[in-house]
Parts: sequence; structure tokens; C-alpha cells
Amino acid sequence: MAKIIDGRKIAKEINESLKAKVEDFIKKHEITPKLAVVIAGEDPASLFYVKMIAKSCERASIGFEKYSLPSETTEEELLKLIDNLNKNKKVSGIIVQVPLPEHINQERIQESVDPSKDVDCFNPINMGRLALGKPEFLPCTPYAVYELMKRENIVVEGKHTVIVGRSNIVGRPMSLILLQKKQYANATLTICHSRTNDLSYFTRQADILIAAVGKPEIIKRDMVKEGVVIIDVGTNEVEGKLVGDVAYNEVLDKVSVITPVPGGVGPITNVMLMQNTLRAAGKLVN
Ligand code: NDP
Repeated sequence: MAKIIDGRKIAKEINESLKAKVEDFIKKHEITPKLAVVIAGEDPASLFYVKMIAKSCERASIGFEKYSLPSETTEEELLKLIDNLNKNKKVSGIIVQVPLPEHINQERIQESVDPSKDVDCFNPINMGRLALGKPEFLPCTPYAVYELMKRENIVVEGKHTVIVGRSNIVGRPMSLILLQKKQYANATLTICHSRTNDLSYFTRQADILIAAVGKPEIIKRDMVKEGVVIIDVGTNEVEGKLVGDVAYNEVLDKVSVITPVPGGVGPITNVMLMQNTLRAAGKLVN
């Protein structure tokens, strides 16, 4: 029988120990770790996500400050705000919600966040550090997958891990995290993407399959082998319901372990953002 991973339970457990660490930090340093979230424009998905972040901060006893800018904000105005937040010793971590209005250069903005406050790990310096195997922060979604695998004792060493997706937010940093020379990493990897010929040829070889595509149920029953471990990062809305990248019901009796959607990786992601914020706060007091 497949083991179905309860991401909500894991998120709650991580949050409980994190909250205790945050409270210790506040007692010791008399500073509350604080996350500043910058949002430009009125993108509904972004507004919703920011609300979720505010809740996560509250649950972890981390301070939260929202900077809402109108969509006509210029790049220079945004850069000025980020510069002020970079210099503000009361702000531990900064995230700039994307997508930004079209006239703003997203890369330039992401590069302007001080690497020591870059809790989303979007700054190229932090991505570079991760690529060299010396990460300062881990990007939150692949960090959530890594944490989940550790807690469920899913060992990638000696197995074949196949990642479908190579985005800078999920697939690519996921591969870099699993390539690290450390416990729960040391992976042997195949990375697939939209230009991969015969995707199922590769997915069928996976001992561990991580799907981060954004295409509802693209991974079908005949594309996986018996006993595979499946981590489904995909979140796709179909007729008002959330579904993953894996045809969950079809594969269930074939897999050994699987993360459901919703309730798998998703709930853990924001807790990892909180973990990064506490880490960033530590840099300001040392
Ligand atoms: P992107 O669209 O940025 O990347 C998708 C990746 O999938 C690309 O590398 C793309 O290839 C690849 N791809 C697309 N079509 C195919 C195909 N037919 N066969 C093989 N590979 C394909 O998405 P993200 O990485 O940002 O997100 C992926 C999924 O994860 C989404 O469903 C998203 O909602 C979800 N997500 C969930 C989070 C959470 O749970 N907290 C957080 C972030 C994302 P190419 O590079 O060639 O274009």
C-alpha cells in the first residue's frame, strides 16, 4: 500500500519547532525577526499569496510588513524602496512578489535585494552559491521537498532521481540541492523539460520522481515503475479543483510513497520561507 505523505502535518511540526526558536531568538536579542513583502500592482494570485505569507508569519511569531505599491510605480521608485529595506536593520528578510508590472525589469529588482536578506533565494549570488554547493539560503519550494524527504527518510543516494521541470524557482534549484555532497542528497539525476524527447522513457526509470511541470496529470500510470516514490510539486486548477502534475488516482496502487495535491509539498513551502527569515535575522545580530 502506498504511503501518502501528510504535508500539512509536517508543516505544523516544522512550524512548532521554528516558533520556539523564533521566541528564543526574540528573548536573546530583543529583536523580532521580520519579513518585508513588496507588492506592486493588484495581481489577485499575488494578493492571495501575500495574505498566506502574513498568516505564516503570525503562526511562526515572525513580524510581517507589507509594502503595497500602485502598478504605475517606476523601477527607480521600487529600487529606492528595496535599498531602504536593505539598510533597515529591523528588516530581516525581503521578498518582492512577482509578477511585477511589465515596465519593471524583474531581474534588476531581484538582483537589488541584499543577498543576506534574500529569503526567496532569487538573487543570482545566492543561486550561484547553491550551484557551487555552498548555499546561504535554499529556495522555498525545493527546500520544502528536501525537508519533506529528510523527514520521511527518503534517501536519494544510490537511486535514480528524475526531475521533470527546470525552472529557476523549482526544477533547477531542486537538482542543485539534491546534488550537494551531504546526507539526503548525493543524488544521481536526470532532468527533463519541454524539449525532452520521449519523457516516459526517463520517468519509467525513476526510483524517485519529482514533478514540477505545471501541466495537470501529465504523468500517467504507464509512465512510472512499480514502487516509485513520487513528489508532486505541481499545482494546477482544473474546474475549480487543485490537481497535481501526476495522475494521482491512476498511479496510487503502483507507488511506494506519494505526496498528494493539495496537502503535500504546498503547505511546507511557506514554513521554509519562515525558516529562511529566521536564518536571515541571525545574520543581522552576528
Ligand atoms: P514553470 O512553468 O516555470 O516551469 C515548468 C517546467 O516544466 C519547465 O522547465 C518546462 O520546460 C517544463 N515542461 C513544460 N511542459 C513540459 C512537458 N510537456 N514535458 C516535460 N517538461 C515540461 O513552472 P514552475 O517551475 O514555476 O512550477 C511548476 C509547477 O509547480 C506549477 O504547477 C506550479 O504551480 C507549482 N509550484 C508549486 C509550488 C508549491 O507547491 N508551493 C511553488 C511553486 C510552483 P522548459 O524549461 O523547456 O520550458
